[in-house]
Formats: sequence, C-alpha cells, structure tokens
Amino acid sequence: MTESQLAGYAELLHAQRRELAARSRGAEALVIEQAPDSMDQLVFANERELAVDSLNRHALAYHQINRALKRIEAGEFGVCLHCGQPISAKRLTALPWAALCIGCQEAEDQAAVFHEATPEFSSAF
Ligand SMILES: [Zn+2]
Repeated sequence: MTESQLAGYAELLHAQRRELAARSRGAEALVIEQAPDSMDQLVFANERELAVDSLNRHALAYHQINRALKRIEAGEFGVCLHCGQPISAKRLTALPWAALCIGCQEAEDQAAVFHEATPEFSSAF
C-alpha cells in the first residue's frame, strides 16, 4: 500500500469519526431530555432506549475507527489480524475500519451464527 493510499484511508476514517461524533451528540441530548407529562414520558422512554442502543453502536463503531487509525500509525493497516494477508482495497474502501480479510470475517460470522444456534441444532454436530 502506498503512502497516499494510506493517507486516503486515514482521511476517510477521520471523516467517519467526525460524523459519528456529531450524531452521538444528538443522541445524548435525547437521552437527558425530560418530558412534563406521563404520556410524553412514555414516548421519551422509548426514544431514550433507542438512543441508548444507538449510542452503544456508535461507541463500538468509534472504537473500531480508533483502532484502525492506530493500525495506520503502527504501519499495520490493511493486513488481516487473523491470517496476516492483505485486506482487499475494495473491502477497505467500503469498510476502512475492517480488521479482518473477507475470508476470516466470513468464518467469524459463521462461528457467531453457530454459537447462537439452538441447542437442538448444536447437538446435531
Ligand atoms: Zn484473514
């Protein structure tokens, strides 16, 4: 990977982090908002739950972006953390924070599905 490619990915990651920070601030404002009557409070409770859920997802994305930026600094960016093979440029353009190559990611996803499977299903193996 060339220096300018790396700089391009770093710029992408920084832009995504800024966007995420801007959206997280909106969600935080919703979390602390108080409604005067009970009907509104019910609505706000629901929205608050959604906002907290969204904050959690933002926190995870934020963490992944930060880790990708650290990998750029360390000169380890674009290399799969599992198998050490280069991650494709196409994948990095779509998901610049990707830490795994597509093959390892698919294996991870399948493992996650397997762990979530019902006991009946698991015991068949
Ligand atoms: Zn891999």
